[in-house]
Amino acid sequence: MPDKYAVIGNPVAHSKSPLIHAEFARQTRHDITYTAILAAEDAFEAEAQRFRLQGGRGLNVTLPFKHQAYALTQERTTRAEQALAVNTLIFESGVIRGDNTDGAGLVRDLHTNLGLMLRGRRILLMGAGGASYGVCGPLLDESPAAVIVANRTLEKASALCRHFESIHASGGVLAARSYEDLRGSPFDLVINATSAGLVGDMPPLPATVFAPGALAYDMVYGRSTPFLELAKGAGAQTADGLGMLVEQAAESFLVWRGVRPDTRPVIEMLRRA
Ligand code: NAP
Repeated sequence: MPDKYAVIGNPVAHSKSPLIHAEFARQTRHDITYTAILAAEDAFEAEAQRFRLQGGRGLNVTLPFKHQAYALTQERTTRAEQALAVNTLIFESGVIRGDNTDGAGLVRDLHTNLGLMLRGRRILLMGAGGASYGVCGPLLDESPAAVIVANRTLEKASALCRHFESIHASGGVLAARSYEDLRGSPFDLVINATSAGLVGDMPPLPATVFAPGALAYDMVYGRSTPFLELAKGAGAQTADGLGMLVEQAAESFLVWRGVRPDTRPVIEMLRRA
């Protein structure tokens, strides 16, 4: 019998995770099934437990359930504790364990696929939602010179900074700013972790934030966003979040199966599609 995995979310029909994990399984010759579960907004726990009791070995968790997944776990990795959210559930010996692979996926995409080392770099992180919580700890682990968090609702950016300052020995590199306060502050890496691009919008970002040779990274993937267009116009390099998507999936596969799949052919396959 193949081991059973799935992604759970609402909506979930658009998810590329079944395709990505099918490729990983084919490549590594692991005998698994990987399906998509649409859970009603009030039925996450019931659906996750049903899957587990039917022999499921693990779940990927997507919007809007990452905080509920955190609450469901009995044991959590440090990166899940830092993110206050879980995107990977592991069902083993009657225990529900939680991990968060989003940050590792982003950092691996930046390092391995885009060749960007973060030590000593100035990073602007836009957004203070679940995605920013997921990546902030792993970004700080890379010893950047600064991580400035900007958000439409400034208090949420301040709360995120307070949270990470209380748990991470980051040496004061983290600070919250409004978008207006970013004028005259160039960054080597500008990450859009807002959902604005999904509706063709972008935060009110001054074009002067891009340092010479800067990389603009939008976590939204599969489309050109106003943020990436602004960045191109300002002479920055650009990348969308497809690499992060595949890398966070590979990290989940590693957690579940003990082997890291080769992500490059999967990223190329999805780009062609
Ligand atoms: P979330 O928790 O709903 O947070 C959304 C964030 O976007 C908030 O900070 C919100 O600001 C901001 N925002 C929304 N619309 C905006 C606008 N028009 N102008 C300025 N700011 C705006 O969502 P999330 O979980 O953090 O996800 C954010 C994005 O990352 C989503 O598009 C998601 O698909 C993507 N993502 C991609 C990957 C990947 O693997 N590539 C992984 C995770 C997430 P306020 O606080 O002011 O509302």
